[in-house]
Amino acid sequence: MIKHLKGKYLTQGFLIVASVFLFSFGSSETKVYICKGPSSKKYHLTPKCRGLSNCSTKVYETTLKEARELKRTLCGWED
Ligand SMILES: [Zn+2]
Repeated sequence: MIKHLKGKYLTQGFLIVASVFLFSFGSSETKVYICKGPSSKKYHLTPKCRGLSNCSTKVYETTLKEARELKRTLCGWED
């Protein structure tokens, strides 16, 4: 019984570590979309975002990490 519980806690601990790892890894590799127009200061989670509908240039796919390095902030239309 005790052994069983201990195993359960170990499994939960592993899952927490794994999800934290996946989250931190995933956030830097998450694909985001940016417009390179002169007034564009945002990044978007989807290329179909309303905020990109009046983009004057091509919509570029990049990573969240790179968008943040470009001082982009999350678009106001996103959830
Ligand atoms: Zn957007």
